[in-house]
Amino acid sequence: MRLQDPQKPKARITLVHLYPREMSIYGDLGNTHVLATRLRRHGYGVDLVDHHPGQKLPAGAHLVVGGGGQDSGQARVEADLEDNGPLLAALARDGVPMLMICGMYQLFGHDFTTVDGRRLPGLGILDVTTRGNTKRMVGPVALQTPFGDVVGYENHSGSTVLGPDQEPFGQVVAGFGNNGDDGTEGAVKGHVYGTYLHGPALPANPAFADALIKAAVDRVVSRGFEPEELDDTFADQARKRQVARLTAVRRRGLRERLLRR
Ligand code: GLN
Repeated sequence: MRLQDPQKPKARITLVHLYPREMSIYGDLGNTHVLATRLRRHGYGVDLVDHHPGQKLPAGAHLVVGGGGQDSGQARVEADLEDNGPLLAALARDGVPMLMICGMYQLFGHDFTTVDGRRLPGLGILDVTTRGNTKRMVGPVALQTPFGDVVGYENHSGSTVLGPDQEPFGQVVAGFGNNGDDGTEGAVKGHVYGTYLHGPALPANPAFADALIKAAVDRVVSRGFEPEELDDTFADQARKRQVARLTAVRRRGLRERLLRR
């Protein structure tokens, strides 16, 4: 059951979901549900706008989410991204929080070159570049981030490299992350987050979800974000279990490698 707006909302937040048809795989729609539901549980009203290619993006967006997609889905949103790119960049500069997963993370960078050499230009909001590979990076992920441990699931062929001053979203504890080499995962600039984490990302990581919500509400209401106490027992259990399992697997792998020497 979808939660209704509270009777007397503390404020109204416009949540924009970019390209829910073309770019929302591996359950990424769950991020939109988590943000809308947590906002309502914290006492805020939500106006949810699905943004489709060819439409005009609402200039009053307070929170923007985008998901992953096949390379073909990314190509289908290119023209719209070019049209709405300047507004998205202006919103990002203005401090509007955004969460971009996988394919949309790549398109928030400078560009994504597919495995067959096709270059899809990105918005350059994040200082990252991505190249497709024949080998995919697939599996569960655990990260250390400013919001504590964050868990999810990755599935991408694109290998992403951060620019010299680009902050990652987190450090890889288990999984491939941006490229399987440098231990970084995702990217963050201001309140714009790009990450490879599907899962979807937010249900098991409520501290991260609330950080996005806080950044959105703080811009809209002068009193700032006034959270309610939410029961995150199940989310916390799920996350801790995933971190413990992945850490144990990693330790076992290291021990086996040492014994083989
Ligand atoms: N097409 C991109 C890649 O494989 C994005 C995949 C995704 O969004 N899961 O790198």
